[in-house]
Amino acid sequence: MTIKTKDQKINQNLNSLKKPVSSTKPLTNENYYSADQDWQYQSPTWFKKFMACEAEALAELKGDWTERGDPKALLVGNYLHSYFESQEAHREFINEHPEIIATSGKNKGHPKKEYQVADAMIATLKNDPKFQEFYQGDKEVIVTGKIGGIAWKGKLDCLPTNHKYFADLKTTQDIYKRFYLPDERRYGSFIEAYNYSLQMAVYQELVRQQYGVQAVPVIIAVSKQDPPDKAPVSIPQDLLDYWLERVKELQPHIEAVKNGEEEPKRCEHCDYCRATKHLTQIISLYDLIE
Ligand SMILES: [Zn+2]
Repeated sequence: MTIKTKDQKINQNLNSLKKPVSSTKPLTNENYYSADQDWQYQSPTWFKKFMACEAEALAELKGDWTERGDPKALLVGNYLHSYFESQEAHREFINEHPEIIATSGKNKGHPKKEYQVADAMIATLKNDPKFQEFYQGDKEVIVTGKIGGIAWKGKLDCLPTNHKYFADLKTTQDIYKRFYLPDERRYGSFIEAYNYSLQMAVYQELVRQQYGVQAVPVIIAVSKQDPPDKAPVSIPQDLLDYWLERVKELQPHIEAVKNGEEEPKRCEHCDYCRATKHLTQIISLYDLIE
C-alpha cells in the first residue's frame, strides 16, 4: 500500500474538479461532418475554404453563413459515393432523398436526369474489370493524426487491406477541361483547380501516421458526360510533399483566425464578401481583373 502525502491528495482533489483536458467525442461516421467535430479537427475541406476566403470560412464554421454551392451537384456526388460504399448505404441514401425521383415531366416516377447520369457514371466504373480489382478494401475509412501540432481528420473512399494505396472518387464535368488558375496565371486540370493535391497530401500523411506506411493516392476521376469518361489519376510525390509543407506554413494563421486571435481576411469576391460589402475607397480600373 502506498501512503499519499497531503500535497498529493490536494492535487488529486483539484484534478478531479477539473474538466477533462479534452471533451472531444470520438470521431465516427455519424458525427464526422458535425460542426462540433469541424471545430475539433482541421480537414482538407475546411482548410481549402480558409485558403479561398477566411472571412467566409469563419462565418460558415460559426454557423452564421451557409455556403451557396450547388447542392444538386453535391447530392449527385454523394449518391455515387454511397453506391460504392455499400448496398445498404446506397439504399439508405435513396430513402433519405425522395427528391431523386421526378414527380412531374417526362421522367415522372423515374430518377431525375442528373441521377440517370449518376447511374451511368456508376455503371461505367462497376462494369470495368480493372476498377473492380482496384477498388477493393475498406470503404469510408476515417483517418486522424496531427499536422504541425494540430489535430486533422480525413475520410478515405477506399483503403485496401495492404495499405499500399488509397483511392478517392471524384466526379467532374469533363476530366480534360482546362481551368484558369489565377494564383499561378496558367491553366490547369480540375484536380489543380479544386486543389485535390492538398487533400491527397494530407490523407497520405494521416495514413502514414496511423498505419506507418507511405500509401500512394489515386484519384478515380469520372465525368458527368454522356457517356461518362473515366481515368485513374496519380499525383507526383513532389507535389504532395509541396502541399503538405504549404499546409504547415499556412496553418498557424488559419488557427489564429479560428481562435479569434487574428482578423480573418476578406477576399472581396465570394458570395459572403459581396453580401457583406461596404464601399470604402475608389479603386483603379486596373484592379478589376486578376
Ligand atoms: Zn470572400
